[in-house]
Amino acid sequence: MKLISTDFHTYYRPSLCELRVYLKQQPEVKAAPAGPYEQVLRRLGARHEQAHLETFPEFINLAAFPSQERIKQTIQAVHNRIAVLYQPFLRANIKLKGIFCEIWGEPDFMLAVNDGYVIRDVKISRRIDEKEHPEIKCQLQTYGWLYEQTFGRPPFRLEVYNGAGKLEKVPYDNGQAALAILAAITELRQMRAEPYSPIGWTKCAGCGFREYCWPRAQKKQDIALVAGVDQGLARGLHNDDINTISQFVEAFDETRLANYQRTWGNRTQRVGKAAAGIMLNARAMVDNKEILIQKPELPECANYVMFDLEGLPPQLNELQKIYLWGMQVFGPRQGEFQAATAGFGEDGDRQAWEDFLAKAQAIFQAYGDIPFVHWHHYEKTNLKMYIERYGDPTGIAERVLRNLLDLLPVTRQSLALPLSSYSLKEVEKHVGYKRKLKEYGGEWSMAKYIEAVETEDEKQRQAVMSEILDYNREDLEATWAVLQWLRAKTGK
Ligand code: SF4
Repeated sequence: MKLISTDFHTYYRPSLCELRVYLKQQPEVKAAPAGPYEQVLRRLGARHEQAHLETFPEFINLAAFPSQERIKQTIQAVHNRIAVLYQPFLRANIKLKGIFCEIWGEPDFMLAVNDGYVIRDVKISRRIDEKEHPEIKCQLQTYGWLYEQTFGRPPFRLEVYNGAGKLEKVPYDNGQAALAILAAITELRQMRAEPYSPIGWTKCAGCGFREYCWPRAQKKQDIALVAGVDQGLARGLHNDDINTISQFVEAFDETRLANYQRTWGNRTQRVGKAAAGIMLNARAMVDNKEILIQKPELPECANYVMFDLEGLPPQLNELQKIYLWGMQVFGPRQGEFQAATAGFGEDGDRQAWEDFLAKAQAIFQAYGDIPFVHWHHYEKTNLKMYIERYGDPTGIAERVLRNLLDLLPVTRQSLALPLSSYSLKEVEKHVGYKRKLKEYGGEWSMAKYIEAVETEDEKQRQAVMSEILDYNREDLEATWAVLQWLRAKTGK
């Protein structure tokens, strides 16, 4: 069996999933092509690697050789003490789980130091920790092991040149952890029947097999579809032969579920307080109708500001950056859609913040102490971060913070919905809101923004920014649709 370093990527990205490894082996199952966000990451990654390569005045590039010749050239170059090898190639054999395996590795660089070599990979990620990028550590560990198998001694050092332009050391453990994962991958590839791996809203987002796994889970009414059922609980129930939502509601009540022990990290833990919500969500799904838990608690106002931010994670920008602060007043005195957008110059981030504060101030002046309605904690977290970053001299941001109204907890506490997720995109569909845009989503918007940043063509930039603004406007309309639906349930 041939194992290559990108097998770690299949196993770990975008989330750890054994099923993905198995499905990738099945010729009849096709993964969806990379989406726009993934493509942007790849493009930025290639550019980052190229920029790093250009810092070496001299190197030998082994990328163009066929694999057999590339291995020979790599060994030769090391014996000749060539200072910088770009795209070397290493290979070694090992028996894993009783199977003869050939392991291939293609580090980005091997750099001569003292009497050994440093193995270096270049990655766009700004943080290479175990939690966020276990696949990167595994790749480097495998290169280290391959180097040791080839040259009879360990590499001088393993390291990553990260997206922030810093070198991060990866400790070498003789390849033990990486080989254990490769052994698991070997086993998964050999399986005759598909392994059970529960679907999950966050877990499956961005996975190429989503269009394969979700319709099947829906058809089977898999227990993992119920909002609140985590991976450990779904696996535990599966092991106890409870696979469908109907089986679950028949076998469990709140007390039994609360005492149920499911896997939680490296230990087991009772489901506890979450049981009540899970039981109601499961019941709502079986009956395919919402269940009112309590009347939604909402402040009574004539008008409300819908508020939604679009931002880049620190992985894609030096700073975690909000590139669009979108707002619109809805109600009897509806206002215009307003957006503060980050300009493309050096001071664009600060200017957008100041523009947002000015727009928010104008809204307070026109409407008084109006609620700023949003979905989930992203807006709150980022407001606090920007107050720290640039200050809030007139107290407007603090006032927005005080007036925030997060509709997600209000919805969760008041209604059990026949949905797998309480994301805005799912709840808005449930309340009947229909988007006009065909392409949308947070990752789509990030990819578009990067396109706008990169283009030199001002006309194209304006067109792209206008698409992002349209998407944000629809997010605000969707939030308003959900608010109206919740208000109708208050009975006032
Ligand atoms: S869609 Fe979900 S369950 Fe299916 S392979 Fe991907 S991560 Fe695994």
